[in-house]
Amino acid sequence: MYSTITLSDKTQHYLELEEQSGAQNYHPIPVVLTRGKGTYVWDVDGKQYYDFLSGYSAVNQGHCHPAIVQALTEQAQKLTLTSRAFHSDLLGEYAKYITGYFGYEKVLPMNTGVEGVETAIKLCRKWAYEVKGIEEGKAVIIVCEGNFHGRTSTVISFSSDPSAKKNFGPYMPGFKAIPFNDTAALAKALEDKNVAGFLAEPIQGEAGVLVPDDGYLAKAKELCSAANVLFIADEIQTGLARTGKMLACDHENIRPDILILGKALSGGMLPVSAVLADDEIMMTIKPGEHGSTYGGNPLACKVAMTALQVLKDEQMAANAAKMGQLLRKGLKELGSRHISLIRGKGLLNAIVITHHNKEAAWELCLQLKENGLLAKPTHGDKIRFAPPLVITEQQVNECIGIIGKSLSILD
Ligand code: PLP
Repeated sequence: MYSTITLSDKTQHYLELEEQSGAQNYHPIPVVLTRGKGTYVWDVDGKQYYDFLSGYSAVNQGHCHPAIVQALTEQAQKLTLTSRAFHSDLLGEYAKYITGYFGYEKVLPMNTGVEGVETAIKLCRKWAYEVKGIEEGKAVIIVCEGNFHGRTSTVISFSSDPSAKKNFGPYMPGFKAIPFNDTAALAKALEDKNVAGFLAEPIQGEAGVLVPDDGYLAKAKELCSAANVLFIADEIQTGLARTGKMLACDHENIRPDILILGKALSGGMLPVSAVLADDEIMMTIKPGEHGSTYGGNPLACKVAMTALQVLKDEQMAANAAKMGQLLRKGLKELGSRHISLIRGKGLLNAIVITHHNKEAAWELCLQLKENGLLAKPTHGDKIRFAPPLVITEQQVNECIGIIGKSLSILD
């Protein structure tokens, strides 16, 4: 009934090498990749796959996008890092570019996504004490149950996933979790005068692509504005054309007070994140109060400008919207009794697998791999389908065929 996959000696070698000396903090699909181009990746045996994870949505522009590779290699030979002890000739240009692109007064550059989230939390608290006038040490940030905002000790403090938290305490106080997609719960939580911010993913990615009801984000923003509370959007996974608009918040025409970006901001080249806000919020942080050695380095600045430009030039948001519809339609038409739910927006999608075997989603992913498509389960029974945004209609149709064929392993 289930796939018994055989791994080549070469693949085994790399898996063993990693297992011997690498921490075991991930449980990857047993495939060893060595090359990528556009929608495709290749393993060490030369087998080609569709990448349906895109580095957790970091590779929206497609693997090794030529314009981004060119920007990276050219800048790498010129100047890579100055630290913020000195200026570079690219930080100002980048700051002007990205603030203009998203319509904010200021940007604070960081590296990983979770650093962006940490930055937003610190900004929100500073604003709470210095602008809103909350008593020092009392600020509360509302978060959503089922959230995923990264892995630092502060950020896991407000996770509701036991595996993210267990034995990592004591936890950072100052966060209150409410159900996602519940504006009544938000309205109630906002009655606390010490609330400074509401931090949310516009679509919960790691939770299994939970898309809130239409109007949820707009109502949440309205409630926050009325309560003088900052609406903080973590668009690290949903942003940058992934959901069929440049930002997922654009679907409801709302502008977050603090916008957090990461992942595809570098098109998968290096860790680049950014926090955008207006002066009232951003200027609360003074020299020496926050920073990072690599944040805003010239290499990152150049790569990020190119990665953003490519998204616009190649109209990737529009393609994501169109290909996403095609993908969801095709998945529905498979009519599989093992798929209980298909959901998503643009090219951020997930299916929920129903099966008596709890390992069914994992088994399906192994079979997908055998058939030339790479995806990974999340939370046991969900599989995210998030290919690079350069995918074509013909490729989507081929992928639907692969998924349909692979599902028979569960019969
Ligand atoms: N926020 C969201 C919504 C994410 O999906 C992720 C990563 O998956 C993060 C934050 C953390 O980003 P990073 O892994 O770059 O720290």
